[in-house]
Amino acid sequence: MSTAKLSIDLDALATNWRNLDTLNSGETAAVVKANGYGLDVARVGHALARAGARNFFVAAAEEGIALRRALGPDLGISVFSGHMEGDARLLKEFNLTPMLNSVDQMLRHIEGLPGHSFGVQLDSGMNRLGMEPAEWAALRDIALGQNPVLIMSHLACADEPGHAMNALQLKVFHEMTEGVEVPRSLAATGGMLLGPDYHFDLCRPGIGLYGGRPFGDALPVIRLELPVIQVRDVLPGESVGYGNSWIARRPSRIATVAAGYADGLIRAMGAGINVYVGDTPCPVVGRVSMDLITIDVTDLGEDPLSLSLINPQQTIDLVADAAGTIGYEILTSLGHRYARSYSG
Ligand SMILES: *Cc1c(COP(=O)(O)O)cnc(C)c1O
Repeated sequence: MSTAKLSIDLDALATNWRNLDTLNSGETAAVVKANGYGLDVARVGHALARAGARNFFVAAAEEGIALRRALGPDLGISVFSGHMEGDARLLKEFNLTPMLNSVDQMLRHIEGLPGHSFGVQLDSGMNRLGMEPAEWAALRDIALGQNPVLIMSHLACADEPGHAMNALQLKVFHEMTEGVEVPRSLAATGGMLLGPDYHFDLCRPGIGLYGGRPFGDALPVIRLELPVIQVRDVLPGESVGYGNSWIARRPSRIATVAAGYADGLIRAMGAGINVYVGDTPCPVVGRVSMDLITIDVTDLGEDPLSLSLINPQQTIDLVADAAGTIGYEILTSLGHRYARSYSG
């Protein structure tokens, strides 16, 4: 076996959904965009449906196809990017519910798919997707007359509980939806942790399901094990890898493992990270290259057959910290070369 092994624990995923659901007195949906945060939307969707999720969110209508095939006809699938030009056939055939983001999308939807379910996305301050307060004020009565199934907005700073933006967006969302009888949704993972004021009728967690911050109690969902291809002695003064960026200061034993930045192990994580044999950390030395990483295993005292990069000790968030990014990017960058195995 020369490719690294990515193990995905669908029981842990389901437990994370259930634990988030207990925080929430309303409905807990599941966000499975970007192929289920990189972990396979069909398997992830199936496991979450078994855990009890009844509504799912994807980013684009195209992402709804594989999910609909995995879930069958009865569960809800909504699309954050709304109703884009050319989407009518997909929305209809796969029974997807667009979250309409603008007057243009609203008109397109009502003309192209009259009577087809839709939601409305409002901009409460993030300035990314959704109707602005003035646009919504002008359209509100027409939109409500068409029976939207959900009105939603998204928080920009929910991973920082003390950030003033949270309360501000909450206030704007209340103002924009006052007197509206349609179910409302504001919180993703971060918003769920801000407390019941943010929960409304439906919460939309993503990252917390997959074991990431800010859901501190999340169970880790993935493990990544890298097979050793070769181990060599390196003398003091000799260098390892591209650019001679690491030079041995002592007689060293260097293991070369099979995974690199083409597998989503971001080059920038470079020398800031350890790889584990059991509980023992071994430092990455030299540059991460496309298919290979070099590791100082001198202190182990024996040559390992494989080393673990992502595990319960070294979570996706710690790997992300070393690379100057976030757990979301580590997950969604995981490459196609891994031997993937699913349990649960
Ligand atoms: C991605 C996304 C979510 C899920 O966010 P997490 O931080 O992963 O929980 C929810 N709502 C919208 C609009 C999103 O784009």
